[in-house]
Formats: sequence, structure tokens, C-alpha cells
Amino acid sequence: MSITAPQLQTILDEIASIAESTTDKGRVADYIPELAGVNPDQFAMAVSRPGQSTLIAGDANTRFSIQSVSKVFTLALALGKVGDRLWQRVGREPSGQAFDSVILLEQEKGRPRNPFINAGAIVTTDTVLEGATPSETLGAILRFVRAAASDDEIHINDQVAQSEITTGHRNFAMAHYLLSHGNLVNAPEQTLGTYFHQCAIEMTCAQLANAGLFLVGGPEAPRLVSDDRIRRINALMMTCGHYDGSGDYAYRVGLPGKSGVGGGILTIVPNIASVAVWSPGLNRYGNSKLGTEAMQILAEKTGWSVF
Ligand code: GLU
Repeated sequence: MSITAPQLQTILDEIASIAESTTDKGRVADYIPELAGVNPDQFAMAVSRPGQSTLIAGDANTRFSIQSVSKVFTLALALGKVGDRLWQRVGREPSGQAFDSVILLEQEKGRPRNPFINAGAIVTTDTVLEGATPSETLGAILRFVRAAASDDEIHINDQVAQSEITTGHRNFAMAHYLLSHGNLVNAPEQTLGTYFHQCAIEMTCAQLANAGLFLVGGPEAPRLVSDDRIRRINALMMTCGHYDGSGDYAYRVGLPGKSGVGGGILTIVPNIASVAVWSPGLNRYGNSKLGTEAMQILAEKTGWSVF
């Protein structure tokens, strides 16, 4: 049975008020100095369904740093550019390790486990960058995101990117390690400069929900990638989209999702909806604490699940 817009709006409003009254909001990521000062008391949720108006609750028009949610868009671009050849350089298995872990990279000789952990995303960005300049590549990424969201008011926050360029030592270590294994085509500074700027894309929850529509599928959703690719990207979001918390998210929410350390989560309900949630405080896996709880409630109340 499909849910009407008023019913869905009531659920979203209920979730926003639960989030507001929850005292433990998690911890804001502080390893990126520019993100450390974000007010943890903010919460927003948005649901976008193909051909229907976007429904919002909370601070859904406040921009936040999408960080690793951007990896979904670059993965789509990399697959569009090199197809299955991407899998020669990156795996497709959950890592069971933190997003910035270097352990597996050493054990697996410079082939990252999946495209959503940092090392894998650096390779994915490197793939998109090959043969182009960082600004051309960022232009292509922004064009893709804006086309997906049907919204040209989506930009990169340069201060956030610069903040990571100054402090992203682990990512630099990973890029150099990849290079030592012949799995980085461009200079580390070029690939990481592109990667940090891609992570520094800012969106509102409403914009992010709209941008996810290309992964929903169905006759009314925007067609930016093939049906086959939609299934594959969703499968990777389900198995790897929340780092070492991916199993927990699949268990609690039952839908493919991708989180970012800015506190955003994009979740896809195949053939039905794209949902964005944002709350800056993170849980122990580095995923939005209230965002995960909110998605769990939404899935329970709507019955939305891939299972
Ligand atoms: N830009 C962040 C980093 O590379 C992204 C991490 C995330 O959002 O999980 O550390």
C-alpha cells in the first residue's frame, strides 16, 4: 500500500520532534577542523519521490558538508567512464574496518576493499581525474550532482576543502601507499585535492534527497545511469556504505545507504524514494547517530525495506 504525502509528512514531523528531544546526539567529527564547530543540535530529513514534491522536516534548508556521500556520485561517474575495469583497481567487499583504516591496504597490496572506504574512494576519484584537470573533474562531478538534483545551486565549500588539505595526513599516507603499488595514476596532491573538494560539496537535505533520485529507478526517476548500474551501486551502498557499521545499518534500516562524516546519510528505497537525513553528531562508526535512528523509525513506520 503506498503512503500518501500527508501521512509521510506526519511521520517526518514525528521523527523530527523525537530527534529534537533526544539528548545523546553523538559526537561531531572534529578531525576536520572546519567541521568541528558545527552545531550538533541541528536535524533535518527530506523524502523525494519521483514525480512528487519533496517532503521536508527540521532544518531541511540548511546546507551541510556531504563528505563521503559524494563517493556515490563519483562511483557513478567512474563506472560511466571505465565500466567494470574499475574493479581491477578496487574491490567490492565490506571492509569491517574504519573508513580511514590503512591496515587492509597493506594486507591487500594496495587494492582497496571497496569504493566507499577512503582508500577506495581515492582510487575512484583518481579514475575520474585521469586525462583531465582537477577543475575539469570537479566541474564534471558538480554537473552530475546538479543534474541529478535538478538544482544548480549546489556548490563546493572551499574552506572545508582547504581544512582537509591541511590536516588530511591519513589520506595523504593512503594516496602515497596506493602510488607505491602502482594504483594511483595522478600525483597524490592532484587526486587528493580533487577528492577533498568533492567531499566538501554542500547541500541541504532537500537537495540531497533530490540528488539521490537517479538511484531510485522506475519510469519517473531521472535517468543518469542504466538500471543495471542502479542495482549495482545500491548493492554496494547496502554492503559497504556505512564502513564497519554497514551490517548494523542493514540490520536496523534494511535499505542501501551512504553516510558522511558531516552527519548526512543518503538512503535509497528502490522504486519508491530517495531519503536524506542530517544530524552532525556521529556514532562510534563515524555515521550520523540520530540520522541512523531516524532512518530506522522511518523504515519501521513506512514498511520500506528491500527485504
Ligand atoms: N573527507 C573525509 C575523509 O576523507 C570523508 C570521510 C567520511 O565522510 O566518512 O576523511
